[in-house]
Amino acid sequence: MDIDTDICVVGGGPAGLTLALLLVRSGLRVTVLERSRSLDRAYRGEILQPGGQALLDELGVLGPARAHGAVEHDRFLLEEHGRVLIDGDYRRLPGPYNCLLSLPQRHLLTELLAACERHEGFRQFAGTKATALIEEGGFVRGVVAGGAGGSPDRVVRARCVVAADGRFSKVRSLAGIGYRRQELFSQDVLWFRLSAPPRTDTRRPCDVRVFRAGGNPVLSYRSVPEALQLGWTLPHGGFRKLADRGIGHIVDQLVDAAPEYADLIRQEITGFGDVSLLDVFSGSAEHWVRDGLLLIGDAAHTHSPIGAQGINLAVRDAVAAHPVLVEAVRGGDAGAARLAPYERQRRPEVERITRIQQVQSRMMLSTGRISSTVRPRAAALVSRTPLYGAMLRRIAFGTAPVRLRADLLAGAGR
Ligand SMILES: Cc1cc2nc3c(=O)[nH]c(=O)nc-3n(C[C@H](O)[C@H](O)[C@H](O)COP(=O)(O)OP(=O)(O)OC[C@H]3O[C@@H](n4cnc5c(N)ncnc54)[C@H](O)[C@@H]3O)c2cc1C
Repeated sequence: MDIDTDICVVGGGPAGLTLALLLVRSGLRVTVLERSRSLDRAYRGEILQPGGQALLDELGVLGPARAHGAVEHDRFLLEEHGRVLIDGDYRRLPGPYNCLLSLPQRHLLTELLAACERHEGFRQFAGTKATALIEEGGFVRGVVAGGAGGSPDRVVRARCVVAADGRFSKVRSLAGIGYRRQELFSQDVLWFRLSAPPRTDTRRPCDVRVFRAGGNPVLSYRSVPEALQLGWTLPHGGFRKLADRGIGHIVDQLVDAAPEYADLIRQEITGFGDVSLLDVFSGSAEHWVRDGLLLIGDAAHTHSPIGAQGINLAVRDAVAAHPVLVEAVRGGDAGAARLAPYERQRRPEVERITRIQQVQSRMMLSTGRISSTVRPRAAALVSRTPLYGAMLRRIAFGTAPVRLRADLLAGAGR
């Protein structure tokens, strides 16, 4: 069955669904193709910075998503052997979004999708993968998508295609757009969850922490429902050698790295199914626009979890792409020149945030005798200067204003 639409968004993650909602609310016809059959899938990353929270609230989805369960974190802490080196106190930032919010992506996507589905112009095909681009004279005119279980291909013709299909973007590679992966401080991360006792004393601050006790640094935060989310960082390719020695050996390493959770780790990490290994890197596509094609979120630029920026930037991309795409469809021209203002607006901020994340990674993850001597001194120096307050505001709210164009949204319904 052929479909004709204004915008075909490939990927129903935070970037794709935020953009889809903005576009349908502006009266455009939007078709989303999503590879997964349901929202019941594995997600990485759920910490939302204040800037992203504010935009999602303006869109009317933050409150309903929070109602499914969320955890507010007061501080970001960098700790070494029990000593706090950096205390990023979010409560000192201007309210009302002065916290790091742990909001499971499933909750966010449920509400974005529900809001999209209230609009007639919206269609989503779940369990459907983009497999080819339709091109005419170098201009992207649509997508061929394959369904699950050998169902026939779907042809989606569109005025513009948006690649929101994540860090290993198929659309990006089909379009022949190069990608520069940055290996500097790239790591593997072993993610796992532990059960956490209910939080009884709500006067005590709740923290997102990167700590180093013994061995490699660990990222930890409280998530819902009553869980601790932990990420143990290790050098690229280092896991296989450890895994060859069995799960017991991995458990011993985790206990060394996070001794305060030793009992929980020993009780709850009993097999390789309880951990997942992730390749963490950053990088950027060489172009974010082509004739008839625009890239957003991780498909355009990928970020390490350090500093919790990926979802934030994905939402900000969607907000910036929205007016550009509305104008392109209304003006009947989705050529690269028409789409270029989006890339001109977003690239400088993404590059600045990437540089900040590199500094953060160097500060948190570097190993060796020199770095362990220098780190506490550098951290103490940095956290006492006004520069640190300014950097925290940039990490929290972004480095350049991104305003939601409410004037382009139809007044009725969300
Ligand atoms: C270990 C880890 C921890 C992280 N922690 C955080 C954090 O705490 N906070 C934060 O802000 N960011 C975090 N991030 C980054 C964050 O997860 C991403 O930046 C964010 O999800 C990007 O959103 P997106 O919509 O661009 O892409 P994605 O979330 O990757 O969504 C892409 C969607 O496209 C679909 N798709 C893929 N290929 C196809 C295809 N061919 N056809 C159709 N659909 C397709 C996928 O199924 C998926 O639903 C973390 C990343 C990692 C790796």
